[in-house]
Amino acid sequence: MSERVIPLIDVRQLPPAAMALSSTPWIAGEPVLDARLRPLQELRISVTDRCNFRCTYCMPKEIFDNQYKYLAQKELLSFEEITRLSKSFLSLGVQKIRLTGGEPLLRKNVEVLISQLSQLRTNSGAPLDLTLTTNGSLLKQKAAALKDAGLTRITISLDAMQDSIFKAMNDVDFSVSSVLEGIESAKAVGLGLDEQGLWSGMKINMVVKRGTNDSEILPMTRYFHGQGMSLRFIEYMDVGSTNGWNMREVLPSAEVISLIQQEFELVKLPPKGPGETAVRYGFKNSSGQLDPGLGEIGLISSVTQAFCDGCNRARLSTEGQLFLCLFAHQGQDLRTPLRAGASDEHLTQMIANIWHHREDRYSQLRSLQNPTPGSQDVQTDPETLGTQRRKVEMSYIGG
Ligand code: SAM
Ligand code: SF4
Ligand code: SF4
Repeated sequence: MSERVIPLIDVRQLPPAAMALSSTPWIAGEPVLDARLRPLQELRISVTDRCNFRCTYCMPKEIFDNQYKYLAQKELLSFEEITRLSKSFLSLGVQKIRLTGGEPLLRKNVEVLISQLSQLRTNSGAPLDLTLTTNGSLLKQKAAALKDAGLTRITISLDAMQDSIFKAMNDVDFSVSSVLEGIESAKAVGLGLDEQGLWSGMKINMVVKRGTNDSEILPMTRYFHGQGMSLRFIEYMDVGSTNGWNMREVLPSAEVISLIQQEFELVKLPPKGPGETAVRYGFKNSSGQLDPGLGEIGLISSVTQAFCDGCNRARLSTEGQLFLCLFAHQGQDLRTPLRAGASDEHLTQMIANIWHHREDRYSQLRSLQNPTPGSQDVQTDPETLGTQRRKVEMSYIGG
């Protein structure tokens, strides 16, 4: 007769949120809502805290130097651990996963993780919407493997068309042409091409810093107009504590769009789905008709128009900390219970419980403090004013 083994977990090793399971009102099969009634629909997973760029707004060289202590290999969640946690997130209503970092293509064999995640199904049985954000530096080598592994969508970051500006921003002398080659390689294997023959699954991200690369808004628009993908302008954000952010360097999206409209005829588009962070515009063609084949402009205005009310995303750090906001100071440890033998049900309940207590709305609170972009240098972190608490770095939890 075979013996039934009941795994035991030492609850003293679990973080407080995991022990307070009885207060979870989540019912299996139902979506979980946070304290502001926002569902959990998207998960961003950072697969490495390392990067081969030193973008001045993200990993400034002076801080992320040879002395900087990155996570050790044993601290990283394994692909199996990530996949297991992802299943729990999917059962709570997550429909979309974005792999990020650091630079996700630096994680060895990341395509193996992609092939594991691409097998997962959402609660409704639909395939997971799986995407990845990359600086494009390794895309030429990796595009085919990513596509073969089941990746259908991709976002590539590029902050300028002019080499000198791009190199000053990535701070490692990486050229624009190498990123463009990466984009071409992704296109060559059809990464981001949808069933209608449109590049709806390919996005280009440009972070705009006033006085640094705002002169590149039109050159970038001219280059990508007609190619079919979405070019997204992101307001420079006060993430982390090391980039020396100040309000003077934020160029509001309203200024970005009025600049583009001086040269291109645009049509405002409806949001694609719940939790959409970008305000989208399509291009008109020479007959004055909206033409999806020409591509799109997206504006991500997290500083001037906070979208916390619809924020449906959680973030999982490289070492398995769950963060509820990009601007959080601290995460909740999922790796300890995972490695202590917690069951899938237990992990799912634990995540539900953490999400259920979520109140985060950092950008909204920042707006309430009412700093005006471009005008003055202000301390805008409502929670850290007068304290020593530091926000987590974007390279650690992913953008
Ligand atoms: N290394 C990859 C890349 O750069 O695409 C993925 C990680 S990166 C943290 C994700 C996105 O966050 C990139 O598009 C990057 O430009 C953006 N980002 C980083 N720091 C930012 C900041 N301070 N403000 C706005 N966007 C930022
Ligand atoms: Fe690296 Fe991306 Fe951060 Fe640039 S934005 S330093 S590429 S993680
Ligand atoms: Fe979401 Fe936090 Fe950004 Fe608001 S500030 S949209 S809660 S990540």
